Amino acid sequence: MRILIVEDEPVISSGISTALAASGYQTRLATDGEKAWFLGDTEDFDLVVLDLGLPKMDGLSVLKRWRTAGRQMPVLILTARGAWPERVEGIDAGADDYLAKPFQIEELIARIRALIRRSAGHGSPVIEAGPISIDTRQMRVMIDKANVAVSPLEYRLVAYLLHHKNRVVPPGELIEHLYGDDDARDANALEAVVTRLRKKLGADVIQTRRGFGYLVADKLE
Ligand code: CA
Repeated sequence: MRILIVEDEPVISSGISTALAASGYQTRLATDGEKAWFLGDTEDFDLVVLDLGLPKMDGLSVLKRWRTAGRQMPVLILTARGAWPERVEGIDAGADDYLAKPFQIEELIARIRALIRRSAGHGSPVIEAGPISIDTRQMRVMIDKANVAVSPLEYRLVAYLLHHKNRVVPPGELIEHLYGDDDARDANALEAVVTRLRKKLGADVIQTRRGFGYLVADKLE
């Protein structure tokens, strides 16, 4: 899962980045409104954390431009405490949730998890498909309710496929959402991770559609 953090205060943005990385998310940072707008318009993110008071272009204008251009990713806005007109305006402009500063980082992470789940159509923190399930609160993978030990990268791969279950996910999309910008990104590395996971989860849980991508489905075909 890739998250865009838009925040011009270094102390706040580094706190958010660190906590999100520890929770298994890839992050990108934009420190002004123009860069934020550009990244959100040209790259694919699973969620955006958007501060409203920003240099160059304010957060509300950025959000309105994304929504006008048809960008649908969930957006959580960070507002000043007590500034209720700002929150109303933000939600009217297309924000999905808000958090008032100062906030507890645990609350931000919980809201982000819930927003990502809901945007993928899942109401519960546990997502299942056939024998496999994940608990997004604890970053756990289970087969027939028994825990399976996985690496953070393996968890991210399984979690992405389960959030998008019953849909064939192209390798390029998976690579984009699994790896940070500095990590090596290639289809062979991805195939190696899938091979390792098949040994841990069973051969059929992650299916390959040759030439199209990978699939985790409710029913095995
Ligand atoms: Ca700010």
